[in-house]
Amino acid sequence: MNKHVINAMVILFFAIGNMGFAQVKKSPVAPNYKLLEKIINDAYEQYKDDKTGEVADYIPELAKVDSELFGICVITVDGKVFSVGNVEASFSIQSISKVFTLAMVMEEMGQKAILEKLGAEPTGLPFNSVTAIEQQATRVGNPLVNAGAIATTSLLKGESESQKWKDILAYYSACAGSELFIIQDVYESEAATNGRNQAIARLLDAYGVMYDDPEDAVDLYTRQCSVGITTEQLAAMGATLAADGTNPFTGKKIINPDNIPQILSVMLSCGMYDYSGTWSYLTGLPSKSGVGGGIVSIVPGKGAIAAFSPRVDAAGNSVRAQKAIAYISEQLEVNIFDPQSVGVK
Ligand code: GLN
Repeated sequence: MNKHVINAMVILFFAIGNMGFAQVKKSPVAPNYKLLEKIINDAYEQYKDDKTGEVADYIPELAKVDSELFGICVITVDGKVFSVGNVEASFSIQSISKVFTLAMVMEEMGQKAILEKLGAEPTGLPFNSVTAIEQQATRVGNPLVNAGAIATTSLLKGESESQKWKDILAYYSACAGSELFIIQDVYESEAATNGRNQAIARLLDAYGVMYDDPEDAVDLYTRQCSVGITTEQLAAMGATLAADGTNPFTGKKIINPDNIPQILSVMLSCGMYDYSGTWSYLTGLPSKSGVGGGIVSIVPGKGAIAAFSPRVDAAGNSVRAQKAIAYISEQLEVNIFDPQSVGVK
């Protein structure tokens, strides 16, 4: 049976099983399944020829990816998958990793310690800013810029660096509901060219806000950024956040539900770097981008919208992914600040 026939049967099955659900006008990520498919297909068609932006090349290996790749995937908290484009192409997770290491460390240390040690304040400066370290009260600003993420990684508990790395990979995989692997070429390429991150870690050490050997922390951070994911896996990781920490496919509780509001709050204020305010204004969705071209946006309690395309703008956010997610979220009326989207009729 071909894929379209199977898709059509799946839609029909859920349409019948969700008659009441489908009639609700303003509703979850999937107001009705056909409409959602149309919306993501429209987003793909609208932006697939957009060539704006440049592939990030400060990590040499990233410059080698096919800049035409473009994938969009929506996954609902009940595990429905809606995909279009190159959703099975693997790319490096890069800064999106910061969210999930934050979740690990928050689980170990608690929300208060995270606020005190790392902070939750947007820097308003680029993700790898050294100036921000001089200006912020906590030095690192927040866990989603490089300084904050390297400090977060340095806080991770574990008997050895190799054990911590295994824990990171296992945690990310559990969030995705499938086994993830490092992209070795990306890791080696970044490890050979990450002098700036090493300088950041040394500066943090001088300020007393580095909690492991700076070189080890940067190495672990570089590894976590080099984890390969597909757009579908990224959407699944986002859906785990949306589903109160439980992966929609495996049913396993991975992230402590008590910490989800704090994680999403930092994503909203800091997840798109020095574009976070504008992004929040446009979409009202907690999101995280990576310079590898991925972006994931969380619709709490409903699902996640992920998109991937390698060309990024000056802030380091994928151009097509931003446009696709902004379009989809607007069509679905899932802005979390819209009283109607959170249940007020
Ligand atoms: N690994 C990248 C870096 O440290 C991550 C940056 C990003 O995705 N914005 O520069």
